[in-house]
Amino acid sequence: MRVLSSPASAFQSALKLPSPRVLVPTMGALHAGHIALLKKARALAGKEGAVVVSIFVNPIQFGPKEDLGKYPRPRQDDLAICREAGVDLVFAPDPAAMYAADQSVFIDESRLSTGLCGASRPGHFRGVCTVVGKLFHILQPQIAVFGEKDYQQLAIIRRMVRDLDFPVKIVELPTVREADGLALSSRNRYLTPLERAAAPVIRWSLLAAKTEASQGEISAKKLAGRVIRSIEKAGGRVDYVSLVDADTLEPQAKVTSRSVIAVAVFFGQTRLIDNCRIGGKI
Ligand code: AMP
Repeated sequence: MRVLSSPASAFQSALKLPSPRVLVPTMGALHAGHIALLKKARALAGKEGAVVVSIFVNPIQFGPKEDLGKYPRPRQDDLAICREAGVDLVFAPDPAAMYAADQSVFIDESRLSTGLCGASRPGHFRGVCTVVGKLFHILQPQIAVFGEKDYQQLAIIRRMVRDLDFPVKIVELPTVREADGLALSSRNRYLTPLERAAAPVIRWSLLAAKTEASQGEISAKKLAGRVIRSIEKAGGRVDYVSLVDADTLEPQAKVTSRSVIAVAVFFGQTRLIDNCRIGGKI
């Protein structure tokens, strides 16, 4: 497994790797959710192809008051996980190598980014699209694997690939969870024991909404209201609970076969996100 930090040398190395090259972009602090993506990437690459992982805590997707400084960076553990998963190339650049001090070109998705996390994290998806676009250029993948946990991110990346003609197939993977339903996240380690014990309410309140929808409740307002009450009762502070179309992310007043309910919740200082498809098979 090669580990490279310079974009130019990563580009040269990636081009020499056999196809298909399958990329898994991450910010590191790898957990079982990431490992599922690595395994999927290895399966998609097959014996012939190559798996490439990027580990980069991307400064331009963090707001000024967010957790960029304290975001975990367990580099040696991450590399061991990559080695174990059969990764061929790790690209782990320094921010200075990725962004010139006077960088002035960014990728800005202007529709799907306006709501949900985009509303509470201005500039976040501009940072995400810009870094993913750069990673696609540097690492030249034919396939890239993303998790459904970051549902809005996935929808926006699909839109970016479509609208900017990146020749990359986007593959998505279901969210990997703890036994009690909490979605795995590098940020779960910030939770105090009490917050950790309460946080699975996110999952269970979304599953309750899914059940209610399957029993005929189609009002987004009522479903969201119940999710909010359950989360608040457990001590969470809701950023948003929103019923949206699975592809366009447009808010919906009523459940359809294409509905996703997406949430962001603070437990203490820690912001957690999750989502659930409701209203039918998509
Ligand atoms: P991150 O390191 O948080 O930027 O995430 C890198 C990739 O891993 C993204 O495509 C995420 O959607 C995905 N991911 C994060 N957590 C999970 C999870 N619990 N299950 C599946 N994929 C995940």
